[in-house]
Amino acid sequence: MAQGTLYIVSAPSGAGKSSLIQALLKTQPLYDTQVSVSHTTRAMRPGEKHGEHYFFVSEAEFCDMIEQDDFLEHAQVFGNYYGTSRAAIEQVLKTGVDVFLDIDWQGAKQIREKMPDARSIFILPPSKEELGRRLRGRNQDSEEVIAKRMAQAVAEMTHFAEYDYLIVNDDFDLALLDLKTIIRAERLRLGRQKLKYDGLITKLLAD
Ligand code: 5GP
Repeated sequence: MAQGTLYIVSAPSGAGKSSLIQALLKTQPLYDTQVSVSHTTRAMRPGEKHGEHYFFVSEAEFCDMIEQDDFLEHAQVFGNYYGTSRAAIEQVLKTGVDVFLDIDWQGAKQIREKMPDARSIFILPPSKEELGRRLRGRNQDSEEVIAKRMAQAVAEMTHFAEYDYLIVNDDFDLALLDLKTIIRAERLRLGRQKLKYDGLITKLLAD
């Protein structure tokens, strides 16, 4: 069986990355995929669950994991540590299932170096105005907080050209279709198809 593909998905906050990945997961089993659950030292937000959104750990636990070489990549993002555990991902990929990593550009860079077969996707918002609207959301944050979020979003977006694919999330359904198309196309690559259809190809080419 062919190994699953490792997908890195990065985007500034407000680009709709999480919604796109969640919508993709609902299309199972057609696009048989899993999302990796990262470890983080940041505080749990209301509605988040340990083991579902993140594994919430202390800084000491996180440092222990670094020392044990448990992480495929790890980075400091907005003052908190985030990391992708190696064991979980390698096991799933072996079963032929694709794995999605929702990580920032620093983590993406580390994964590309270690796993050259990984594919990376960057998601952009349709405009700065729309990004501003999405960053404001429904809550009453101060203009200072919003300006800081916008600066962080711009900093993340400056890395878009390091990725294999670029999706602009203007129309959500179209952006989801773009994501599915990337997965389908990757599955049709010769190396993967040759392994999948080994028996058929042998029969077709027999005298
Ligand atoms: P949040 O705290 O809002 O869930 O995520 C903040 C940022 O951290 C997002 O850009 C997200 O993609 C990134 N992130 C989440 N998990 C990981 C991880 O395991 N590694 C890296 N490098 N970044 C991560």
